[in-house]
Amino acid sequence: MHEKCGVAAIALTERAGARPLYYSLYALQHRGQESAGIVTHDGFQQYAHVETGLVGDVFAADDLDELRGNVGIGHVRYPTSGGTDACCAQPFSVSFKSGSLGLAHNGNLVNTADVRADLEERGHAFTTWGDTEVIAHDLAHNLLEADLVRAVKRTMDRLHGSYSLTIAHDDTIMGVRDPLGNRPLCIGDLGDGYVLASESAAIDTLDGDLIRDVRPGELVVLAEDGSGFDSYQLASPPRSAGCFFEYVYFARPDSVIDGNLVYEVRRELGRRLWAENPATTDVVMPVPDSGRAFASGYAEAASEAPMSEIPAGNGDARGEAATDEGSPDVEFAEGLMKNRYVGRTFIMPSQDERERAVRLKLNPIKSTVSGKSVTLIDDSIVRGTTSTQLVELLHDAGARAVHVRIGAPPIVAPCYMGIDMASREELIASDKTTEEVRETLGADSLAYLSIDAIAETLERERPDLCLGCVTGNYPYDIDGEVTDRDVQRPAVGDASARAAGDD
Ligand code: 5GP
Ligand code: MG
Repeated sequence: MHEKCGVAAIALTERAGARPLYYSLYALQHRGQESAGIVTHDGFQQYAHVETGLVGDVFAADDLDELRGNVGIGHVRYPTSGGTDACCAQPFSVSFKSGSLGLAHNGNLVNTADVRADLEERGHAFTTWGDTEVIAHDLAHNLLEADLVRAVKRTMDRLHGSYSLTIAHDDTIMGVRDPLGNRPLCIGDLGDGYVLASESAAIDTLDGDLIRDVRPGELVVLAEDGSGFDSYQLASPPRSAGCFFEYVYFARPDSVIDGNLVYEVRRELGRRLWAENPATTDVVMPVPDSGRAFASGYAEAASEAPMSEIPAGNGDARGEAATDEGSPDVEFAEGLMKNRYVGRTFIMPSQDERERAVRLKLNPIKSTVSGKSVTLIDDSIVRGTTSTQLVELLHDAGARAVHVRIGAPPIVAPCYMGIDMASREELIASDKTTEEVRETLGADSLAYLSIDAIAETLERERPDLCLGCVTGNYPYDIDGEVTDRDVQRPAVGDASARAAGDD
């Protein structure tokens, strides 16, 4: 239900850019499996190769050789606005009077219709329903009238929503992060050039050094010859709105976002999950792979906790393995085996197929489950499909009790920075209390992590996070929804929003 996608960009002194871009897209594959693409420029002309499929299938060695030039951008796509067809694969490219433009987008605008209608009135014709094309046209329009930095600034002033962009204007390569910094984007040093990527794991893959995150509202322009980069702070709102779900689920555990190693964040969230709602059972078991880091933190905190601090009556806290003296004897066990070759359950169209997919994907190791009380740990509950199936699976495998602990708060509202319109009706927690969700899951106990635990772990004030999906209050001005701050959609149709001399 959440928006992902991965973006990358590169400018090198002598080497061709296509191969390192290809490796970085491989490193970002978890952020989108629907399509992949690279756009390069050799100083004379733009080259593009964009197709549906996984990175490894989209590019053959020949394709990479044909993507000439030392600079370029890349994208992996998870279907967001614009639908799932090939039309919306990225980078999106256009040619216009002042050159070529390639654009890769991670995020989702919430005022696409406004900007699009305004551009249509100015004679722009669109070939897709996606918001990325709208950004590209708006920027192309502005580039006819203003220099690069001013043009990007004008476009930024008209967009409302989340966007981390990599852009190729001829051989000038740029990265932009929206003023609230909703989606990640970072800069790396490769020794013979610079790279921009959604996650630092892509920089590691290229054996580069993470320099820092692109700041919310910042434009970074890479020098064509790979010798450096320039920074322009184009917007500086008082608050930011980073997506906490990047830390909980999307990002790779080996990535560093805003100075935090995602793996350590998840382990700390797991420790806090124990502290807030301990259940002492025989085994702590992660849902692979999303629950693993949480479960390791949870089990660690559990085994360090003195028994006297564990409240009785919490699930079956003080289970049989525990004694009243010393720490509870908690075993961390991989009790669920994952079939790596099953596609993501989320792309299954019907609920029935989704349920079967979970069974296909995960199978219990009976000896670690049978006769035991189990704490099952996952990062999040969205529709409830995974947890419901796994609780049943563990019961069938002979578990005496199944306690569920979730490393995120209940997801009660849709993500508009997002995708496939998981509506309130589909979200199991949108109209149920935690006790009602527990009953639906068939679990012996259920507890979620608090929002405060997340803010504290990330060392951020709540108003510097996007918590829309867990509070129903959004940091953006969205039709029909409540916003938690003083934000307003720009009036893009209004002539005053445009520079003087505009048509
Ligand atoms: P549920 O089965 O409750 O609908 O979804 C929860 C499971 O899906 C969790 O195991 C979590 O790791 C995973 N998940 C959470 N958010 C997303 C998402 O945006 N996309 C995908 N593919 N999986 C997600
Ligand atoms: Mg999962």
